[in-house]
Amino acid sequence: MRKPLIAGNWKMFLTVEEAQALAKSLCDSDIDYSKCDVLLAPSFTNIYAVHNVVKAAGKPIKVAAQNVYTEDSGAFTGEVSLPMVKSAGADSVILGHSERRNVFGETDEFINAKVHKVLKAGMSVILCVGELLEERESGNANSVVVSQLTKGLANVASLSDIVIAYEPVWAIGTGKTASPADAQAMHKVIRTSIEKLYGKAAASEVRILYGGSVKPDNVTSLMAEDDIDGALVGGASLKAVDFLKIINY
Ligand code: PEP
Repeated sequence: MRKPLIAGNWKMFLTVEEAQALAKSLCDSDIDYSKCDVLLAPSFTNIYAVHNVVKAAGKPIKVAAQNVYTEDSGAFTGEVSLPMVKSAGADSVILGHSERRNVFGETDEFINAKVHKVLKAGMSVILCVGELLEERESGNANSVVVSQLTKGLANVASLSDIVIAYEPVWAIGTGKTASPADAQAMHKVIRTSIEKLYGKAAASEVRILYGGSVKPDNVTSLMAEDDIDGALVGGASLKAVDFLKIINY
């Protein structure tokens, strides 16, 4: 049985004070953590503050970085390394988010190098995959997603510290959500690919999140699908009331 995971991607939003206040609101609220894992991905500058709020409240909320660089240290102005995010309190990293792929030009090979880096440090990865609108419209959505998945996981021996997030790019921040049936169909494609690569047991255990304009009013129908094990939530994770409704779906 896969435990649902609801993850909030705070993107490049919130000052330290705002992030602390949002984390505190979530910590002060009733969440049944036995039914659902919760993860917050603040910006680099807010990881430490959010980690401390969660720690002080004694809540089992995980904190993730939204990205990381491949080197531990060095002359890489503007980059942030894995030892840095780890010491700030992150225990996982989102990799391959469509904004990293499409705005910053990250390739599958670069993402795969980071996947190895994070796993080697004993941390977890949320690996994002998803097709552009034109790739869906031209009938290539499945092959694009399977290619991103296969290349992102190249030479990864075990999926025990990996969560996959399917995020159709046309649904991110646009208010358009994939229908539950379309999302389920792609999640099934992903799980079947994983079965081919890692076997039946790994495929039945790996969590596959859906992301793309998840809101309080569509989360229940998405989560009702067999292969949707949680949500990666952007915009709606920035308001405690909405994110709590999603967590408590
Ligand atoms: C995201 O940032 O991963 C995301 C899915 O954003 P939104 O929920 O705003 O579409």
